[in-house]
Amino acid sequence: MRRRENEKTAVLFERPVRRLLRAALDVVLPPRCVDCRSAVDRQGGLCPECWKKLSFIEGTVCTVCGYPVETDPGRDMLCGACAQRRPSYARARSALRYDDASRDLILAFKHGDRTELATTFGTWMSRCGTDLLSRCDVVVPVPLHWRRLFRRRYNQTALLARSVASARHDVSVLPDALRRLNNDPSQAGRNAAARRDNVRSAFGVSPRATRDLRNSRALVVDDVFTTGATVEACARTLLAAGAAEVSVLTLGRVVRSDSDPI
Ligand SMILES: [Zn+2]
Ligand SMILES: [Zn+2]
Repeated sequence: MRRRENEKTAVLFERPVRRLLRAALDVVLPPRCVDCRSAVDRQGGLCPECWKKLSFIEGTVCTVCGYPVETDPGRDMLCGACAQRRPSYARARSALRYDDASRDLILAFKHGDRTELATTFGTWMSRCGTDLLSRCDVVVPVPLHWRRLFRRRYNQTALLARSVASARHDVSVLPDALRRLNNDPSQAGRNAAARRDNVRSAFGVSPRATRDLRNSRALVVDDVFTTGATVEACARTLLAAGAAEVSVLTLGRVVRSDSDPI
């Protein structure tokens, strides 16, 4: 109870302090577009040109997996893949189409040490995942294997998870709840079935997290949803560990046209 009150007081003070800090930052570091670095009116924003290039996922999507659908056939629309085989997670949503424009930005974040992008990305993700975020208790990033973590020095997904969760003051981020059990070779170049096989037993739950996960509504955060095999494996692992429900929020989503091979 006391903790809640302290949190409320912290929130009351936070806004003016943030505004002040932002104003001070604007003087020292004039805001630049997060993509092309041209001048913009606020920190963490995009210039109109870069904004136009990005394709945010809006309009009708599959109720379950969030895949964009062309027509509007009603409220409970399921995409073909979900109609055929329901995923273990309740719902998934993504902020952006993963295309040429967003790829460069996401890769700069993943491999180019541009960790400051997490704030902007987290804002986009929490906007598209408002419903998911409002009904979750814990936020769980998809983990990197420790060898990759060692090479890359940071887990970009944990940064996204923190940024997404900062929109709510009563959810916990559990950065170590999921563990990679094998040093999975990259998913790149594998088709959907191969990706599923590759990640089927890739994750485990940290014993320290089991209490927080039991009966929780968990929100799994990842950078890009490609075939969904990774988040499906994470959802199964969390449900097996006692989570009541799992949803998924990713920054990018691969959206293939019907003619593309999966
Ligand atoms: Zn720009
Ligand atoms: Zn679907």
